[in-house]
Amino acid sequence: MPFGKAISLTRAHTNLLLSDEAAILTGWAACQVWCAQQDTTKIGLVLSNTEDLSGSVASALGSDVVDQLVHHNKFEQDGVTTLLLTEKTTGNETASVLLLLGIPPERLSTITDHPHVDACVLIPRSEEDLEAYLRLYPKSAKVELKDVDDSQQPAMTPEYHERVNWYDKHYEVIAHAHLQPGNRHVLGARQLQICRYCGRQHPATTFNKEAHALPLLIGNRTLIDALECDACNAHFGSVIEDHFAKWTHPFRTMGRIEGRKGVPSWKSFDDQSRIEAPDASNLRMWFPSGDSRRQLDEEANFLRLTLERQPYVPMGVFKSLVKMALAVMPPQEAVHCEHLKHWILDPVHSFESYPYGPLNVYFQQFSGPTPTIGLTYWLMRRHPNSDIAPYLSFALQFSNLMLQIILPMHEQDKSFINGENFELGWFPTVAGIANHEETFGPTVRKVIDMSGTAPVKGDQEPMRFRFESREEILQSEPADK
Ligand SMILES: [Zn+2]
Repeated sequence: MPFGKAISLTRAHTNLLLSDEAAILTGWAACQVWCAQQDTTKIGLVLSNTEDLSGSVASALGSDVVDQLVHHNKFEQDGVTTLLLTEKTTGNETASVLLLLGIPPERLSTITDHPHVDACVLIPRSEEDLEAYLRLYPKSAKVELKDVDDSQQPAMTPEYHERVNWYDKHYEVIAHAHLQPGNRHVLGARQLQICRYCGRQHPATTFNKEAHALPLLIGNRTLIDALECDACNAHFGSVIEDHFAKWTHPFRTMGRIEGRKGVPSWKSFDDQSRIEAPDASNLRMWFPSGDSRRQLDEEANFLRLTLERQPYVPMGVFKSLVKMALAVMPPQEAVHCEHLKHWILDPVHSFESYPYGPLNVYFQQFSGPTPTIGLTYWLMRRHPNSDIAPYLSFALQFSNLMLQIILPMHEQDKSFINGENFELGWFPTVAGIANHEETFGPTVRKVIDMSGTAPVKGDQEPMRFRFESREEILQSEPADK
């Protein structure tokens, strides 16, 4: 669920139930957005008439959903539980977000004014219902689904659609957001501060520092985690994120990703070559003539660079991605991942610390204009009907990179560990836009084994860029050196 614009109003309403067939879906989606923003996971569905269940609710949300509501009084999707409440049970602390279906005016305020209710969305049955609601809450926001104009969407390749279909079939997304400057969101803001990694709370630990749920170095300025303690924060910074920083360094320079101190510059081991980004839209490179790290293909307009990395431990890179997945994981799934928390908190990188392998990173580097602002993540859980996909997978996109891992889940993925084959499709990227690869060059795809526990020294990353034209300029040496 993407974090949309913050809903500052905690009272909202949809179109009339009978005039808008998407009214229920719209109201429910608004409740989900609110849940994501406020870090709660329960929506209460309040009906005035139980016949609506088999009628309008079934046609909006599907008969599967209604079956679950009827038999279990709830259903779960995307990490959010929707509870079927009666007017009598709304006073309990079960759900602070309510979706009200056709509640008559005289009964509205007793439900909506309850102190446990933070937000509610009314789906009015009639104009009179709506007027009464607006008298109670004159600032209620109207929520409406906008039709997406398909003609405005770029055409995608058949291969792209195949990939999307594969993921639709085998996975459900349990956490997802596109993070960009402006929409600050604090995970666990309204919860008791118990560290999601070490399980400690005050006074055994402290929560004074601002912890980024995903690293600042890949451009996350907005997703903050209130449930990461200072001790874990310091540990992650020095023991795992440092390796991720070193491994991603060439990509972050070339992608002009602004971290804490701006875009990191890159320097060769022999100090002869360097790349700097004076701002997010420019790169300056200095390579001595004849430097084999820089090759120009004038015919095809390609620049090939080979950029060295500082030594890094592969397992540290993998653990960083696991940490990101745990940061955004809904609590009901995180309880199955205690082994991963222990593993990433272990100060030592060793196979023995969690005997599972290989630790593969599914790496895609696509060509074309670089989205320098913002990053996107998807945490996915295997669909109950799938028997060929690994249980949990996390995909992260920033700049021109898509990095994906399978979370090591020895229980849920037992059959794969015992030798049965699994499948994982390449995650769809913007390079699936028709003619994208023809214009900008093919996507580089590789599976990188990050199981190694010893520092990798002298590693290099080959990179290729297409340019439009080349001009000779006079200055060839940096002014300050
Ligand atoms: Zn902690």
